Amino acid sequence: MSNALFPTSIAGSLPKPAWLSETNVLWPQWRAEGDELASAKRDATLLWIKEQEDAGVDILTDGEQSRQHFVHGFLAFVEGIDFDHKVKMGIRNNRYDAMVPVVTGPLKLKGRVHQTEARLMRAHTDRKVKITMPGPMTIIDTLSDNYYGDKQKLAMAFAALLNQEARALQADGVDIIQFDEPAFNVYMDDVKRWGIDALHRCIEGLVCKTAVHICYGYGIKANLDWKATLGGEWRQYEEIFPALAASKIDQISLECMNAKVPMHLMALLKGKTVMVGVIDVASDVVETAEQVAATIGKALEFVPRDKLIPCTNCGMAPMDRDIARAKLCALGAGARLARALYAA
Ligand code: ZN
Repeated sequence: MSNALFPTSIAGSLPKPAWLSETNVLWPQWRAEGDELASAKRDATLLWIKEQEDAGVDILTDGEQSRQHFVHGFLAFVEGIDFDHKVKMGIRNNRYDAMVPVVTGPLKLKGRVHQTEARLMRAHTDRKVKITMPGPMTIIDTLSDNYYGDKQKLAMAFAALLNQEARALQADGVDIIQFDEPAFNVYMDDVKRWGIDALHRCIEGLVCKTAVHICYGYGIKANLDWKATLGGEWRQYEEIFPALAASKIDQISLECMNAKVPMHLMALLKGKTVMVGVIDVASDVVETAEQVAATIGKALEFVPRDKLIPCTNCGMAPMDRDIARAKLCALGAGARLARALYAA
């Protein structure tokens, strides 16, 4: 049974088992191909459904077991992108270099993107299920463009494709569709200029819940170095939360545990359901249930109890599998303790 008070969820990704792909890296190589790979992805997804349920996660994801990377996993299904001649580009405002594909023509979906994993989840759990997809601003910051020639136009073209897939996912029985926008913490002016409009294009016509995840990135070295330059208080959220509060998105996922984000900034999200990061993904130290419950307790000063979803700070894709599993259990146990401590 799912919990009504403090239902737990995760940002999205989980580590891939060693038999599916390389481990502990952001862009892992698959271990198999063709039918064998498809069946390995399916097995890994089922395994994480069970692990999440057992750990006490209420809103499940597929752990992003079927995609190589959270952005390029979507792009692989888009026509008009050249993956054979990748170029090196500084991404997230030159925080780190990545080899990125190039937009060379009009964008179009080749077919369904996440149908297999969405239907698999729906068939194997009674709990709520969530599918995550990269947001338009983050997508266009993770590829090179030789065709549209305008950032906003390119973002809107992707938003239309995301909307097409989102509508189909809703029809598959997905309860929540989440867009990951780490770029929102980097290009705060663009968020207000066109980032929210692009998200609205993504959710057009949806009646299921919608979410956006905004974080300071995976626990990789480039991100840790970047965070070290952000000063004693990280106030990026302060610039974008009022715009998000005024948006049509239902849920906002943010970093909290061990982040230097002032917690009172959550109050800027008035009216929204807040996915509070109570699990740090940039540290291998597993939180205790007491720590998780304490973070929930502090967040309750700024978020109403019926609008708080305990969550992870970000995806856990590059983590060690055992640590990720232990962190899922800490999330579940901490929320259970919080329900006992803060019951009305
Ligand atoms: Zn994230």
